[in-house]
Amino acid sequence: MKTIVLAGGGHTHLEVLRRLTAERDTEVKWVLVSASRYHYYSGMFSGFAEGLYTLEDIRIDLKKICEDKKIDFIEETLHSFDPEKREVVLSSGEKLQYDRLSLDIGSHTAPGNIERLAEKQVQIKPAHLFSDRIEACRKAKELVIIGGGAAAVEMAFSFNQWKQQNGRKYDCVTVIASSELIDQKSDAVIETLFDHKGIHFSKNDTAVKVTDRYVMTESGEEVPYNEVIFLGGAQAPALLAESGLPVDDKGFIKVNGCLQTTDDSRVFAAGDCAALTTHPNLPKSGVYAVRQGEVLHHNLIASLKREGMKDYVPQSRALILLSTGNKQALMLYGKWRQFGSWAWWWKDYIDRGYMKKYQ
Ligand SMILES: Cc1cc2nc3c(=O)[nH]c(=O)nc-3n(C[C@H](O)[C@H](O)[C@H](O)COP(=O)(O)OP(=O)(O)OC[C@H]3O[C@@H](n4cnc5c(N)ncnc54)[C@H](O)[C@@H]3O)c2cc1C
Repeated sequence: MKTIVLAGGGHTHLEVLRRLTAERDTEVKWVLVSASRYHYYSGMFSGFAEGLYTLEDIRIDLKKICEDKKIDFIEETLHSFDPEKREVVLSSGEKLQYDRLSLDIGSHTAPGNIERLAEKQVQIKPAHLFSDRIEACRKAKELVIIGGGAAAVEMAFSFNQWKQQNGRKYDCVTVIASSELIDQKSDAVIETLFDHKGIHFSKNDTAVKVTDRYVMTESGEEVPYNEVIFLGGAQAPALLAESGLPVDDKGFIKVNGCLQTTDDSRVFAAGDCAALTTHPNLPKSGVYAVRQGEVLHHNLIASLKREGMKDYVPQSRALILLSTGNKQALMLYGKWRQFGSWAWWWKDYIDRGYMKKYQ
């Protein structure tokens, strides 16, 4: 009997689980180790923060899927893994042997280079922390979001909308972005929408320090806050580098096109925690993580059988539907930027369809 350990219940492993059929090889035992019983779908985080979706709308019960598929489910955090011993160590100290290990443990949101941020921020990643931490941000009189990408901008719209609709019109949401808002093509339209909705922002200025009362920026601005969240890019879980396997300059584990780590053919990784050597600039985004599922499922089985493996080739452009609050959204696709209610309904249709596929 061979054992494949799936560590982390992220977007890619969810797709791997979906593809495991009852007719699979009975000589292979599959085990899912997940820090949470649930997978939380980040595409619906903004709608949840705004109050449009319930907790049950945005999460998928991994334990139930495993029971249905007769896969071992262990609700625990992966503490470390030892490629030489082919062993994973769980937070309880329990050890598991593996023949193949696949990592899909996502990323964190705490950067080391903003003084005292780690201590002061509301940490909403790993993904299972998200729902519990949202209330503090909704109720903050002054909420500061550090980051200028899609996640930061979308969450600013969502929290602002929640405040408008829940008697907190005089609360303040401020975005601090070290570059333009999302990208050059989106910047002007986001700026107009922020102005229209009363969302404060500061562009091309970097947050450098968090005091008890202010977020300080490089230009010397002091932005008051009650709660601060960092959405300025994914940070690597430390256990990846601690394994001794090669990581990129940010600490994400290096994988080849087959999603196999570059120094150990028995260890695979996908989603945010992986650094693809074939596509080093691939954004850390759920849309790419989901599509890796098919390749990962095939390759984990093929590698045990010593059969041919598939290469993961990312789509050349991804469609982004960015919720701007009040059931409106902005579509970003290539050079196109289009705004309206239709874009939100389209997003809602896609997101609910995604959830139905797995629930
Ligand atoms: C606020 C916000 C909004 C976003 N919105 C979007 C969006 O609309 N569209 C989009 O494409 N991307 C979005 N993203 C990015 C997206 O969240 C990530 O790119 C995506 O979740 C990556 O998927 P993943 O499978 O790598 O990891 P995740 O989906 O993060 O899953 C990792 C899983 O592993 C578990 N885990 C973590 N550590 C361990 C451990 N040590 N042991 C066991 N389990 C562990 C976690 O609980 C989690 O369930 C958003 C991100 C944020 C922060």
